[in-house]
Amino acid sequence: MDQYSDFLQSEKLRGVRYDVRGPIAEEAARMEAAGHRITKLNIGNLAPFGFEAPDSILVDMIKNLPQAQGYSESQGIYSARIAVAQYYQSRGMTDADVEDVILGNGVSELITMVLQAMLNPGDEVLIPSPDYPLWTGATTFCGGRAVHYICDEQNHWYPDPEEIESKVTDRTKALVIINPNNPTGAVYPRHILEALVDIARRHNLILLSDEIYEKITYDGAEHINACTLSDDVFTITFSGLSKTWRVAGFRSGWIYMSGPKQRAKNYLEGLTLLSNMRMCPNVPAQHAIQTALGGYQSINDFIEPGGRLYEQRNTAYHLLSQIEGVTVEQADGALYLFPRLDPEIYPIPNDEKFVIELLRQQKILVSHGRAFNWIDDQHFRLVTLPSVEELEIAVEGISDFLASYRDA
Ligand code: PLP
Repeated sequence: MDQYSDFLQSEKLRGVRYDVRGPIAEEAARMEAAGHRITKLNIGNLAPFGFEAPDSILVDMIKNLPQAQGYSESQGIYSARIAVAQYYQSRGMTDADVEDVILGNGVSELITMVLQAMLNPGDEVLIPSPDYPLWTGATTFCGGRAVHYICDEQNHWYPDPEEIESKVTDRTKALVIINPNNPTGAVYPRHILEALVDIARRHNLILLSDEIYEKITYDGAEHINACTLSDDVFTITFSGLSKTWRVAGFRSGWIYMSGPKQRAKNYLEGLTLLSNMRMCPNVPAQHAIQTALGGYQSINDFIEPGGRLYEQRNTAYHLLSQIEGVTVEQADGALYLFPRLDPEIYPIPNDEKFVIELLRQQKILVSHGRAFNWIDDQHFRLVTLPSVEELEIAVEGISDFLASYRDA
């Protein structure tokens, strides 16, 4: 039986992890089935927290539903792809063209496709630690080796270009940037981004820039599209509708490719092949892209002072900072905080068990730091999506749990 089961499972899955939806989420589901109400601070899923999509997106999709019954072109419908190209034109990429855009079922599908088309066994990809874990999981799944560069909590969670460069080998194919960052909330300043682009340039790396939180920044933090910093580095920019436009369930995202594409001709052919093989992305959702990218961006109402996301992030930050032995870097962007628990006060041998215990005692679900390929057991991530009132209750619960941990 065991042997058969081993035989059935692909060896490619060995070492592949995606713990943000692993045993902790399963325990939460068991508890919910047993009648407990769980406060879920674990997934950056906006709609269930009352951040509903702009009406225009829903209207556009509904109007187009009759025309969206069949497959579309594999790379996506023209109106959506040209809208994405024009969006990057407006960011300074004046030669962005419809051919530079491929649509996908969320950024998730595109991350996997982009890596599948690129990696041979043993090829290395430089990925931040902590990361959004799909980057590490998909790299491993594709036979590649995730080589983590450590972001510096003492320096706003920015990466250290020198460390990154020291990890480049002759097997390194790509450098991943997640900006604004999940889970740390960091938004990288120009000089850091320029240094990363320069590393990619000097070592012939593909730059993979995950910018899904591009429009979610606070207190004037400026997001810079990495693609705008060079015309000689082959760059793939990832974004989509899940966060800014709050329709994660529609599964809609895109990649925009820039730089010396003629040098990447074979790679692009491979990407087109994979894109053809999946037929096309979800067609109704593609109709929403053009509408989403144009006009006033209603996410702005949430991220300005007085807006829900802004106030919630401040509340969570201030309350967490007041707990003994907890330090937290304020997020300049995205939807998360990644607090640190002082190991002198909270020695945590296993952070996954720690957050499961928090869940059992306080019915509060957060994600453990190692789920993001972080290097110690002293961090956890929470989302800043619940209302201020809910966050106050939740952080009080976390504080009570930590007090009992201190006293134990
Ligand atoms: N990239 C980052 C950094 C994310 O945080 C997420 C989702 O949380 C994704 C990609 C996946 O997004 P999508 O819903 O478009 O698949």
